[in-house]
Amino acid sequence: MVSSEYEGRIAARFATFDQDGNGYIDRADFNAAAKAVLAEFGTAARSDKGQALYGGAEAFWQGMAGIADRDGDQRITRDEFVGGAVKRLRDNPDRFAEIARPFLHAALAVADSDGDGAATVAETVRVLAALGVKADIAEAAAATLDADRDGRVEESEVVTAFARYFTVPE
Ligand code: CA
Ligand code: CA
Repeated sequence: MVSSEYEGRIAARFATFDQDGNGYIDRADFNAAAKAVLAEFGTAARSDKGQALYGGAEAFWQGMAGIADRDGDQRITRDEFVGGAVKRLRDNPDRFAEIARPFLHAALAVADSDGDGAATVAETVRVLAALGVKADIAEAAAATLDADRDGRVEESEVVTAFARYFTVPE
């Protein structure tokens, strides 16, 4: 049984995905997310990192559409997201991690300005802020991600936390 509180949290996640705020999630929202992250870090769309991020965004969109776009109109409505995404992502959080991983991997590569293989907490906050996550939530999330407190956010930590964020009730 899915609690109404949990559905409320998922509805809030819908707003994060609906980057342009037009009431449904589609490919344009994922492209907008990629564009926002690239703009934040001054990375060119035509660069290797830029192309990888757009590729990750497309894969993320295809995966989400496969899970939630029940009528196949290439739009995920709020009802499709809350009804379809909630149940399937709860049943299979690993699947969600799998479809989000290429985008998260590419976003962290954009944020990893010194190329040492991990973004800092501050860089991760900038990614989340570029995606429209409120500053206090972004800072709390990024600090939580740095579980071993070395100031670096590892990809595995991000993927796990991201899946948990979308799939586990508080
Ligand atoms: Ca939208
Ligand atoms: Ca649909």
